[in-house]
Amino acid sequence: MRDKRLKKWEENIRKVVPYTPGEQPSQPGMIKLNTNENPYPPAPGVRKAMEEMQEERFRLYPDPTSAVLTHALAEFYHRDPEQFFVGVGSDDVLAMAFQTFFNSKKPILFPDISYSFYSVWADLFQIPYCCPALDENFRIRGGDYLGENGGIIFPNPNAPTGIYMELDEIEEILRQNQDVIVIVDEAYIDFAGPSAMELVDRYDNLLVVQTFSKSRSMAGMRIGFAAGNPELIHYLNDVKFSFNSYTMNQPSQILGAEAVKDREYFYDTLKKITDTRERTKKELAELGFVFPDSKANFIFASHKTCPAKELFEALKQKQIYVRYFDSPRINNYLRITVGTDAQMDALLAFLRDYLKGKENI
Ligand code: PMP
Repeated sequence: MRDKRLKKWEENIRKVVPYTPGEQPSQPGMIKLNTNENPYPPAPGVRKAMEEMQEERFRLYPDPTSAVLTHALAEFYHRDPEQFFVGVGSDDVLAMAFQTFFNSKKPILFPDISYSFYSVWADLFQIPYCCPALDENFRIRGGDYLGENGGIIFPNPNAPTGIYMELDEIEEILRQNQDVIVIVDEAYIDFAGPSAMELVDRYDNLLVVQTFSKSRSMAGMRIGFAAGNPELIHYLNDVKFSFNSYTMNQPSQILGAEAVKDREYFYDTLKKITDTRERTKKELAELGFVFPDSKANFIFASHKTCPAKELFEALKQKQIYVRYFDSPRINNYLRITVGTDAQMDALLAFLRDYLKGKENI
């Protein structure tokens, strides 16, 4: 038994409760719909570039500025490379942004039901925070973000609800918060609607963060980026270079740039996923599920009679993995990633049989 009394040296240790990432099982034949990955491969140019990669890329240090990737992003979004910052997944970019921009004694604001990493970073960096509650329909109430604060962050679409906030509502939050940094975490924006990136030229306090993990099928490569005015990007780089010059490895830079070049493949893949999402919504509704109108690559669904936890366990037995959060207000929901049509058919067939067996439909 460990001595419960704190040892002297333990007094000075930073104690944190870490974020719990979704499971990463790897059974053959499993259907993995639990961490919002893309079911389709990355753009074909990515594989080609990987096969042709020279050994020099491994032997030498990477470009610390990741210029090949910031330039590819600038070209894709018709902006300047100085408006982009890249990191090891958007988690890395967001952590860096918390450290760079949230240094007020006033609390930062983010929704009570949101990406659960925010409170972990706030605790880690000792940033005070407040979490205004979503309304009864799981919507962010813009009015909760107009008071004094040390900064604001929210995902759009929100996670795990999938609800998209229109740009005029975001603009109102920006207009009322010009003295603090507002971060819009757009991990799922490509499946949704217009990006707040179009507001960065008008609001110098706006940072938009996106990822290659979902819409660009590269969760395993760990690539994320921020877009904002060059001054914000400069401050982010100063913090990054004070921490680790070489955060992003050279293959990720090169392969990320390849992914960005293929516009057609990108839009084709998005369409496949959003079509499957809409079809799945209809079928889930027929089975007695209710859910907010998700604009992301997942559906946050609750069954009218069968508890979510029971369904989660039953699906897992069949090696169909979805995400279940045992947290207040959302512990009767499943977050189901939109996979291929075949994967969704298997999920729906299982649910149909299971619910019929229990006379829940
Ligand atoms: N933001 C949100 C809202 C997310 O759901 C995720 C995925 N876990 C991330 C950021 C981080 O994604 P990544 O680090 O893979 O870019």
